[in-house]
This record gives sequence, C-alpha cells and structure tokens, in this order.
Amino acid sequence: MTGPRIVIIGGGILGCTVAARLLECEPRARLSLVDQGLIGGGASMYSAGVHFPVGRSERVRRLSGASADYYQTLHARHPQLPMHGFDFFVAAGAADAEQVRARCAGLRPLSAEERRQVMPELPYGQEVWRMPDCHAMDVQGLAQWYARRLRERAELLEGVGVEAIREHADGVSVLLSSGHSLAADAVVLCPGPWANEGCWRELTATLDIRVKKVVALHLQRPPEHGHALFFPVEDAFLAPLPQRGHWLFSYTCQQWDVTPDRCRQARVEAREIDEAREALRGIAPALAQQLGSGRVFCDAYSPSREPLVQFVGRHQRILFAGAGNGSGYRLAPGIAAEALALLNHALTTG
Ligand SMILES: Cc1cc2nc3c(=O)[nH]c(=O)nc-3n(C[C@H](O)[C@H](O)[C@H](O)COP(=O)(O)OP(=O)(O)OC[C@H]3O[C@@H](n4cnc5c(N)ncnc54)[C@H](O)[C@@H]3O)c2cc1C
Repeated sequence: MTGPRIVIIGGGILGCTVAARLLECEPRARLSLVDQGLIGGGASMYSAGVHFPVGRSERVRRLSGASADYYQTLHARHPQLPMHGFDFFVAAGAADAEQVRARCAGLRPLSAEERRQVMPELPYGQEVWRMPDCHAMDVQGLAQWYARRLRERAELLEGVGVEAIREHADGVSVLLSSGHSLAADAVVLCPGPWANEGCWRELTATLDIRVKKVVALHLQRPPEHGHALFFPVEDAFLAPLPQRGHWLFSYTCQQWDVTPDRCRQARVEAREIDEAREALRGIAPALAQQLGSGRVFCDAYSPSREPLVQFVGRHQRILFAGAGNGSGYRLAPGIAAEALALLNHALTTG
C-alpha cells in the first residue's frame, strides 16, 4: 500500500522539520519539498538559533517544551549537529518577577553573592534567575542536514517557485516555475515571511499576518562576565554563538510591514545600532560601544503572537503552518507536530 502524496512548500527550518517528522510517523508518504531558493536560505539563514523554554501563553510554552525535548533527543542521537548548550541568566525588576516566573520554565533563583558575580553591572532592584537547558543551533545547517537525509526518501526541488495552487475536493495540483506540476492529496504551506506573497496570498489574507524586520547585532568580543543574559520584559538577549565564534545581542526592532524580498537588500543601519545601543545601555553598558555589525531580515507575526497552524482554502487540503513571531526555530518541532496531527485527521476522515 502506498501512503498519501504530500507537497511541502517552503524549505526553511519549518518545512524541513515537517518533512522529517512526517516521514518519521508515515514512512510510506510520497513527499515533495519545494523551495524557490536553496534549502534553509530564507529567514532560517538569518536565525540566531537560540532556544529557551519561554512562552507568553500556555500553548507557546507547550510548543517550546515539546521542541526542547525533540532537539535534545535529536542531538543525543546525532552529536555532530551544530548545537551548543548553555544556561541563560534571566533578569527582571521585582514588579515583573511573578510574570517572568510564569513565562520561563525551570528558573532557579540566585543568591545575592551569585548575583553579584554573574551580573555586577545590573541595576539595583532586579531579580536574577538561572534558566538551564538553553542552546544555540546553526539553523541553516540543521535545515541542510535534514535535507541531506530527506533526499534519500523524498523529492527535493530547489530553485523552483510555486506559481499556482489549485485545490479540488479530491486533491491539489501545484504548478511550478519549471513548467512541471505536482499532484498531491494535501499541501503544507510553510512560507515563513513570504506568508502574504505569491500565489497563496488570497488564501492567507484571512490570517492577518504582518511581517516585521528582525535585527540582531554581533559582538566581536564576549562580555567580561561571560554569561548569556535574557531580559524577558524587554524581549532582548545576549547569547554566545559558538558555531560562529562570536556573541549576539537581539532586541525588538519595531519596523513593520516590510517584505522579505526587500529585506534581502537590507543592511544594518545607524538607526538600528542606536536602538540596540540604547537597549544594551541599561543592561550591559560596557558592551554597547562594541555594536557595529549584525544580521537583518524579517519574520511573519500573527495577531495573537502565537504560531498559526490551520487549513486555508475550501477542502481541508491546504494546511498553513507558520508565523514564527521571531521564534520559528525554537518552536519548529512543536509546530510541525501540530500540523501533522491536523493533516492526519483531515486525510483519515476527509
Ligand atoms: C535576524 C533573525 C534572528 C532570529 N533569531 C531567532 C532565534 O534566535 N530563535 C528562534 O527561534 N527564531 C529566531 N528567528 C526567527 C526564525 O528564524 C524564523 O521564525 C524561522 O526561520 C522561520 O522558518 P520558516 O521555515 O517558517 O521560514 P523560512 O526559513 O523563511 O522558509 C520559508 C521558505 O519558503 C520559500 N518560499 C517562499 N516563497 C516561495 C515560492 N513561491 N515557491 C517556493 N518556495 C517559496 C523561501 O525561499 C524560504 O526558504 C530569527 C529571525 C531573524 C530574521
């Protein structure tokens, strides 16, 4: 017996994770993965790949926990994967402490002495915790690792754009820029920040996704204290990227309604360095002067700031999975599991 024919559109970290998990639970599936560029070359290429067990809502905390377990198991089985574990130190004002404890899993309070050693520059009145089980991954490297393994069992089409998707009651046809078409029982749409572009924009219009610039700046030298710091209220972090040999400062950039194709041309600008310096000044002032380079791209954000996994179209054959909200790497295995549960339900009951 043959399994369902599935086409995954978008070979970023999410599309690759959906593909890998699909073949884990349905080895007979006949799978095609299509990307207009090279695998892992979209938002995933720019990702800092930082994972921490944090979520503003119960669902995001669950996705984050499930993803952490998945990555730990994957790394235990494949220690060559570019994943490096570390602990974050989390800081917040006393007034926000309760909210922070609810959002971050596994926090351990620090004694006053430990606190002085870890964060000597921290303003008085801040609480500090240790948050274990965090890591940094080379996300593009992971997507390409998945792709290498997928090639043995699936059709990978790179450099091929999807130009039309036609949904019928009994299947979907996907027309490609190469002139070929693919017939499928279902399509999983993982377009990252291209959520509002291309031939699916009418299908995704109801999701109200907006695309925001994401900026992270590189630090040539590590902070003197050598600790990774996370500031949940400011939504900023300072983390090591051992696979690249530098540190990174991520803060929340507020430039909305950008497009991924224009962001390809984006460069770090003076305005972003000023914003990041301002954010870092209150946190680790000695590092603020180091900021001068980094990475700029964008990501898809949903109105609820939770990832979206839902059917679009009329016949439950086109499943959208995305809206990473700047956390698409650290939630990808959990999002993929939700997508596959929905897909399985639709294909077995439809
Ligand atoms: C600077 C930066 C830092 C970040 N840091 C982190 C972090 O530390 N931790 C974290 O969890 N997240 C982080 N993120 C967010 C994370 O990178 C994204 O949420 C994640 O990569 C999204 O993955 P994706 O597979 O959904 O999208 P993408 O990786 O963008 O994949 C979508 C793919 O769809 C393809 N595509 C688009 N249109 C078509 C078409 N017509 N036909 C065929 N293919 C098409 C694209 O080529 C692309 O490869 C960061 C993002 C940025 C920009």
